[in-house]
Amino acid sequence: MTRLLIMGGSDAGISEALRVHKLDPQAEISVLSADKYPNDSICGLPFYLSGETPDHRQLAHRTAFDGIDILTNHRAVVIHPVGKRVDVVRGANGRAETMRYDHLIIAIGATPVRPQGLPGLDLPGVYLLHTMADSFAVHHHLTMGEARSALIIGADYIGVEMADALRHSKATFSYARWTRFAYLKNSLGFLPKKENYLCDWRADGLALNCSYLPQAEPRNRKDWKQALACIVAVPPRRTWLTRVGHTWLLSGHAGLLEHIKLAEDRDVADRAALFQNKAASA
Ligand SMILES: Cc1cc2nc3c(=O)[nH]c(=O)nc-3n(C[C@H](O)[C@H](O)[C@H](O)COP(=O)(O)OP(=O)(O)OC[C@H]3O[C@@H](n4cnc5c(N)ncnc54)[C@H](O)[C@@H]3O)c2cc1C
Repeated sequence: MTRLLIMGGSDAGISEALRVHKLDPQAEISVLSADKYPNDSICGLPFYLSGETPDHRQLAHRTAFDGIDILTNHRAVVIHPVGKRVDVVRGANGRAETMRYDHLIIAIGATPVRPQGLPGLDLPGVYLLHTMADSFAVHHHLTMGEARSALIIGADYIGVEMADALRHSKATFSYARWTRFAYLKNSLGFLPKKENYLCDWRADGLALNCSYLPQAEPRNRKDWKQALACIVAVPPRRTWLTRVGHTWLLSGHAGLLEHIKLAEDRDVADRAALFQNKAASA
C-alpha cells in the first residue's frame, strides 16, 4: 500500500488528497495541517470579517474527508528525503514524532511579504491577513469596538475586498448613462439594510455572486436559491451572475430565467443592447 504524506491542509493539499483517493482508494493518505482549520476557505475571510458569514466554520469547503487521515495542529519541521521521513511537531505542547512516506507532497501555501525596513509591523493594531488566526485577531479588534478607521496597505484584490468588507460589504453602485447598475460582492444573502436600500434605489442592472446550483445547505457562497431570493427582493430588469462554479458552467446554464445571465465577456455587448432598448422605449 502506497503511503502518501501531504504537508498542508488547505486548498492545494486537500484537493490533492481527494484526487489521489479517487484514483487509488487503497493509498494510505495523511494530511498534515499546521492549524486546526482543514480546507477552510481563506478566500472567505473578508466575508467573515464583514459579518456576512458570521460563523467562521461556514468557511470550510467540506468537513468530511473519507479515506483521508487529517492531522490538524501537526506542523512539519524537517524533511529527511534520504530516509523518506518527516519530523512533525504536534499540538501546542510541541510533542515531536516522525512520519514515514513513500511520496511526499508539499502544499504549505505562501508566506505574506513583510516588507524589510518598514518599522512598526509588530505594533498593536497592525495585522496581516492570510490565515484563520490572522482573521481572528482582526475580528477581535473589530468586535471590541476599537476600530474607528482602517488603513489597508496593498490595493490589489484582497486589499480592495477588505475595504469592501470593512464597510460591511456595501454595494458598489454606478450609473451607466441613464441606467442604474449595482454590483454586489456579498457571499451569502443580503444584509437587511442593504436589501431595503436596493429596493428603494431600483437598480436596472444587478451583478451578484452565485457559485452553485441549489445546495441542501449552502456554505461559503450563494447558491441559486439564495441568489434568486436576492433578485426577487430587488428586482432589477436584468441580472448577471458572477463567480459561477465550474459544475454549473459545464451544465449548460440550465434553469436560468430569461433576464438572468451568467456573466461572460460578451455581456459588454449585451449591456449596450440593454441601454439602447431603454433609450428606444423612453
Ligand atoms: C483574504 C484572502 C482572500 C483571497 N481571495 C481569493 C479569491 O477570491 N479567489 C482566489 O482564487 N484566491 C483567493 N485567495 C488566495 C487563495 O486563498 C490561495 O491561493 C489558496 O488558499 C492557496 O491554497 P494553498 O493550499 O496553496 O495554501 P494555503 O491556503 O495558504 O494553506 C496552507 C496550508 O499549509 C499548512 N501549513 C503551513 N505550513 C505547514 C507546515 N510546516 N506543516 C504542515 N502544514 C503547514 C497551513 O496550516 C494550511 O493548512 C485569497 C487569499 C486571502 C488571504
